[in-house]
Amino acid sequence: MGHEDDGGRVFAPHTEVVRLGRDPLRFDGFVNTPVVRGSTVLSPTYDDLVHHRGRYSYGRRGNPTTEALEGALQALEGSDGVVLTPSGLSACGLGLLSVLGAGDHLLMVDTVYKPTRLICDTVLKRLGVATTYYDPLVGAGIADLIGPNTRAIFLESPGSQSFEMQDVPAITAIARARGITTLIDNTWATPLFFKPHAFGVDVSIQAGTKYIGGHADLNLGTVSAVGPAWRKVHDTHGTLGITISPDDAALGARGLRTMAVRLERHHASGLEIARWLEGRPEVSRVLHPALPTDPGFAIWSRDFTGASGLFSFILKPVPERAMATFFDALALFGMGYSWGGYESLAIPFDCADYRTATTWKVEGPAVRIHIGLEDVDDLKSDIDQAFAKMRAAAG
Ligand SMILES: *Cc1c(COP(=O)(O)O)cnc(C)c1O
Repeated sequence: MGHEDDGGRVFAPHTEVVRLGRDPLRFDGFVNTPVVRGSTVLSPTYDDLVHHRGRYSYGRRGNPTTEALEGALQALEGSDGVVLTPSGLSACGLGLLSVLGAGDHLLMVDTVYKPTRLICDTVLKRLGVATTYYDPLVGAGIADLIGPNTRAIFLESPGSQSFEMQDVPAITAIARARGITTLIDNTWATPLFFKPHAFGVDVSIQAGTKYIGGHADLNLGTVSAVGPAWRKVHDTHGTLGITISPDDAALGARGLRTMAVRLERHHASGLEIARWLEGRPEVSRVLHPALPTDPGFAIWSRDFTGASGLFSFILKPVPERAMATFFDALALFGMGYSWGGYESLAIPFDCADYRTATTWKVEGPAVRIHIGLEDVDDLKSDIDQAFAKMRAAAG
């Protein structure tokens, strides 16, 4: 099995995540690629050494375990290559550092994952890169924000916490025409539900921590790229010496095997609970692009083939102590950051204190939830009993 013997056949995603990045016959028949630990790689002869004839040269530059995961992701993304980084945030940083330099201008979506802003506002700023934040709903209006030094446009769709959908092809068409590199944080959809490169994006980034890992036991970043951007990402990754452990690569590959089934369940349960929340008297609005009532639905249904388990809702106004009662009463939803694992999570959030290009004004407290793989009726009854305690606390 492997890429070589498939005669160029294209398989469905459920098949691809099972078969990609495995080569059992190369490893004495073992189904999974072994965890290869190592820094030094020996050459059999002087000639092989000086002419770099080996498949591997040094642990930092990759080994069979990291290469297997990179190859699998490259096929899923449909790209020229993928590199792995130790976290999703470092993948965002690597993508930006690969394509920007002193004097350049970056257009960054205002709804980006908050820590990615810090990269722009500190490291990139210090290196002489200027950032302008833009409204995620800008669409083709991005053209008006492009200046003579604009080198890159960064997207995230749907946006972190508030889930606005971006018109990706409208933006990439303008960027391509002007020779501007586009990057996207595609963690929410993964390449199973949205394929950025097919929509003209040059650099596709994932926090593999979320759905690739899938078990809340891994931090991982992936950067996929096409065209001239691939060389830049590849070289910057190597030059900076970014590498991940083979154990983490093996965990990523293991997560990949079940990712399609897990995402199918996250999609179904997430949508079911989103619809149910829409009908609840405690809830003012649900922010989920796969709901027909959501302003992002038209773009989501045009470009995406599924939705993951992460979305938000706005409560009707309640005092903060009632909110605290709601969160403390949840038994099946853990309170904690990150998401994408098998377990359900909930956090309060407020975008008002950090967004700069858009205004976040909502009618009540905002809650972000991740719907895990638990039984969906158990999750509903858990929220139901927490709402009851919240109402009692609100008086
Ligand atoms: C979590 C997350 C990241 C960062 O991933 P880490 O592995 O925690 O660094 C980046 N982008 C998005 C959209 C995320 O949700």
